[in-house]
Amino acid sequence: MLSAPEIPRSVLNAPRNTAAVAVTVLLAAVPAAAGTPDVDWDHGSGPPNMAKGLPNPPGWYRAAVGPRSPEKVLYLTFDDGPSPQTRPLLRSLRRHGAHATFFVVGAAAAAAPGVLSVMRRDGHAIGNHTWSHPRLTDVPTAVVRREIRRTRRAVGPGGAPCLRPPFGLVDERVAHEALRQGLMPVMWTAHVEDWNPHPLSWTVARLRAATRPGAVILMHDTHRQTVHAVRTMLPRWRARGYRLDVVPACKTPTS
Ligand SMILES: [Zn+2]
Repeated sequence: MLSAPEIPRSVLNAPRNTAAVAVTVLLAAVPAAAGTPDVDWDHGSGPPNMAKGLPNPPGWYRAAVGPRSPEKVLYLTFDDGPSPQTRPLLRSLRRHGAHATFFVVGAAAAAAPGVLSVMRRDGHAIGNHTWSHPRLTDVPTAVVRREIRRTRRAVGPGGAPCLRPPFGLVDERVAHEALRQGLMPVMWTAHVEDWNPHPLSWTVARLRAATRPGAVILMHDTHRQTVHAVRTMLPRWRARGYRLDVVPACKTPTS
């Protein structure tokens, strides 16, 4: 159960009757593990931070993952799929007993229900990456709502209670709508820049550099190179004592 101080400021600041409805929705939809302490969604995102690659609204990590810990756990996150690269990736993850979080695009998810079934069966989390990947901070709230809701429906009842805003673009308004629908926004602490072409060795080196306790690593399961790099790293992570798990805010009863 959420205690009063954990209800986000965005909800408390909303008009009175909206707040009452939103709190009810939050209490019903957000698992206690996710928590919702104060997060300053209006800062640490936007194009300058996007260029730097690390959108970092103060407080998001604690809200989505928890307190910083020395525990050797990594949170691999894969955006923009499913794609033809997703099944080979799922096979590799399964072989190594690794769990990950997939932030699927609704339009792609609706076209690949079989891949989503494998994700569910193997204990991965299926998060929401909107239906058509717009810049949510630039579109009306009604569009934000529709993009998230349509994707939730495409994913179905096994969907994870979390959202990766496209491009890491979030603000108070977008976060409020996500939370209203029971989804915690999840950013990242490292990425492998796989939207640009690099040699495999470069991507592997990047993953090694990103390996530290509690890292949330952004990748895309739309790139073959990414799948190869993860396949290379899986035994190395295990040898170094790392566990690969679902982002805590994205946990469902089966992940
Ligand atoms: Zn994306």
